[in-house]
Amino acid sequence: MQVYDVIILGAGPAGLSAGLYAGRSRLNTLLIEKQKDGGQIVITSEIENYPGCLDEESGASLVARMTKQVEKFGVERAQDTITSVDFSGDVKVVKGLHGEYYAKAIIVATGAFPRPIGCPGEKELIGKGVSYCATCDANFFEDMDIYVVGGGDTAVEEGIYLAKFGRKVTIIHRRDELRAAKSIQEKAFANPKIKFMWDTVVEELKGNGLLESMVVKNVKTGELTEVLANEEDGTFGVFGFTGFLPQSAIFEGVLAMENGYIKTDEEMRTNIPGVFAVGDIRIKTLRQVVTAAADGAIAAMTVEKYLEH
Ligand code: NAP
Repeated sequence: MQVYDVIILGAGPAGLSAGLYAGRSRLNTLLIEKQKDGGQIVITSEIENYPGCLDEESGASLVARMTKQVEKFGVERAQDTITSVDFSGDVKVVKGLHGEYYAKAIIVATGAFPRPIGCPGEKELIGKGVSYCATCDANFFEDMDIYVVGGGDTAVEEGIYLAKFGRKVTIIHRRDELRAAKSIQEKAFANPKIKFMWDTVVEELKGNGLLESMVVKNVKTGELTEVLANEEDGTFGVFGFTGFLPQSAIFEGVLAMENGYIKTDEEMRTNIPGVFAVGDIRIKTLRQVVTAAADGAIAAMTVEKYLEH
C-alpha cells in the first residue's frame, strides 16, 4: 500500500498551486483530477486580473502553463472521481471509481461548478442552445441572438466576449442593477451589441432537439413574454452565468462547512488535523485565480509543517 505524503483533490489553480509547492518541497504528492485540469478557469476567455497575464491570455493557456510547471516537480497524477473519504485515522483514505488512495495529509481543492438557471427545459437543451461556457460554445452562435442569464462579473464579462460572435447579446438579470464590478459594467454599457432585460427571470426553455423559444417573466409586473428564435436561424443561445455551487457533497458530515463551503483557518486547516482546503471550495471573501493560487501555496507549506510534527 502506497502512502503519499499528501494527496491533492482537484487540479484547478488552487490544486495546481498546492502541487507546485508540495512538489518543490519534495513531498511525495499525488494530484487527483476527475476531468481536465483547470476547473472553472478553463472556460474563461480572458484572464486580465491575474498578475503577469498580458495580451488577452485565456484561462486554458494559463492552466496549461500551471500544469507543465507542476509536472516539472515530480508530482504524480491520477484521473479519478472520488466517491468517498475516510479521514478518521492518521492515514487518510480516499476512494474513487478506479481505486483507493492513501496519504498522511489531504488538500481539498474541488472547487465549484456553474449553478443551473433552474427552469423547465434547461437540462434537456444543454448543448442544444443552452450553455455555461462562452469560450466553448460562442462560435455556434455566430451572427445569432444570444441571451446571457445573470448579472455578476462572469455574466457581464462573458456577455462582452459573446458580443464578438452574436448578432446581439441580451443580458437577462433578475434585478434592475448589475452585481458586476463597475469597470466591467461600463464596458458592457458602452457596447452597442449588448442589451439588457431588467427585472427578468427565465421561466422555461423550449425546443424539440434544439432551443427554439424561451419564456421570460418580468418579476415586477408578472408579465410573461415568449422570446422566439429568429426564423432564419431557427435557434439561439442561452448562456447561464448565475454563480457557482461548491463541490463538497462527499465531505458532508466529515468536514465543517457552511452552505457547502468548507471552513478553514488562515493556514487552510479544516476541523480535521491533516486535512486542508483551498480555493473556491472554502469560505472566503474573494474567489479568484490569484487567491486560489495563494491558498494552494499556503496549504502546501502548512502540510509540510504538519508532516514534520
Ligand atoms: P455571482 O457573483 O454569484 O453572480 C451571480 C449572478 O447571477 C448574480 O447577478 C445573481 O443575481 C444571479 N443569479 C443567481 N441565481 C440566479 C437565479 N437562480 N436566476 C437568475 N439569476 C441568478 O457569480 P459570478 O458572476 O459567477 O462570480 C463568482 C465570483 O467570481 C465572484 O466573486 C466574482 O467577483 C468572481 N469573478 C471575478 C471576475 C473578475 O474579476 N474579472 C470574473 C468572473 C468572476 P443577484 O445579483 O440578484 O444576486
